Amino acid sequence: MSNFVDDVQLNVRGGDGGAGCVSFRREGPEAFGGPNGGDGGDVWLVADRNTSSLIAFKDHPHRRAVNGVHGKGKDQHGKRGVPLEIHVPEGTVAYDMYTGELLADLPNHGDRWLAAHGGRGGRGNAKFWSNKRRAPTFAEQGEHGEDRWLRLELKLMADVALVGFPNVGKSTLISVISAARPKIANYPFTTLEPNLGVVRVDNDTNFVVADIPGLIEGASEGKGLGHEFLRHIERSRVLCVMVDLAPVDGIGPKEQEEILLRELGDYQPELLERPRLVIGTKADMLTEGMATEDWDGDSISAITHQGIRELVGRLAMLVDQARQAVPDHEGIVIIRPQPEGAMVERLGEHEFRLVGRQVERIVALNDVSTPDAMNYIDHQLERLNVPKLLAKAGAMDGDIVWIADFSFEYQQGS
Ligand code: GDP
Ligand code: MG
Repeated sequence: MSNFVDDVQLNVRGGDGGAGCVSFRREGPEAFGGPNGGDGGDVWLVADRNTSSLIAFKDHPHRRAVNGVHGKGKDQHGKRGVPLEIHVPEGTVAYDMYTGELLADLPNHGDRWLAAHGGRGGRGNAKFWSNKRRAPTFAEQGEHGEDRWLRLELKLMADVALVGFPNVGKSTLISVISAARPKIANYPFTTLEPNLGVVRVDNDTNFVVADIPGLIEGASEGKGLGHEFLRHIERSRVLCVMVDLAPVDGIGPKEQEEILLRELGDYQPELLERPRLVIGTKADMLTEGMATEDWDGDSISAITHQGIRELVGRLAMLVDQARQAVPDHEGIVIIRPQPEGAMVERLGEHEFRLVGRQVERIVALNDVSTPDAMNYIDHQLERLNVPKLLAKAGAMDGDIVWIADFSFEYQQGS
């Protein structure tokens, strides 16, 4: 089943910000400092109707945007990293891999979601100039790009899902009614990736058919390919249930229909309320005298094309009605603002850690050893109310406080 990919893990990482530059320059009475580093590139997920599966991520799960360039020389601000656009199929849903939290749902072509922020570029020493600090000897490092693991799930956006046992003729039908050319073979589970086909009814009517890999009995309990496939059916507007009129294993068409409907209902009772059409396949195999008393429904043959036009017409009508009843659903993108300011975590009896984007940025200087830099850090921590936060958290004189890789000793009133 290794070919069947509709559920993948993806690691996205924004580009790192470039470092700011320390430089000194004097032109007449004016003094200038070094320029800023460029911001790192952002990573976007973009729904694209020309992308049909998530398979590309299976062997290459890491995607990284370009880093911002370091600031340099005189006024050369670092170039910002180009954003990275990752194309995913329509109907892709992104979750946080660790928490399972839903982050984005991208059902329609062009829907986009900012999956990982690029790091901000560091400020050059020009930015730290002040009355008191005439020639700052430090600049900021760039911020690291956001780095996160996602789980992507593809929920197909087919108008019609072809539902039937392996070998019933789903792939063949789709190749007959659409331009898609799915693999066809005379054994079960040939179709390990769901195939989509666009069926053109006339100039301005078309619908999308999904060739859902075969359902097998027990799928609703997760047997065999189970839930993987049922999940694709969830979003289809219309179900086309296909039963084999010439089954090799002797399970008659009526019985096939019962099993299929039971599986659908067990998975999600609501699926049984979807508009559906039941059709017998391989009608050409029924030679005279062969048992068809079991089947009084409609039938088709993908080989002689018997009943195909009628089937397409009826499906188009059902899709049209369903579209009018339920318009395209809008995507959702969850925006979670990053916590601002500083948060105190207690690491041990005499050890604390300050976390938060702002506070971590304060110590991300290229050189924290100069008195100049220390003064700056001190002042900025004060502005973020850090001494009070530490006191409140129970810090005592002499306790160690960490901010990222930087540590200092806590002194009250300092
Ligand atoms: P799927 O597993 O449901 O996708 O089934 P396929 O489309 O791969 O078809 C399975 C087998 O049935 C293949 O050998 C097809 O050539 C054959 N088949 C499909 N449709 C027909 C049909 O209408 N008549 C006949 N005689 N064979 C068919
Ligand atoms: Mg198939």
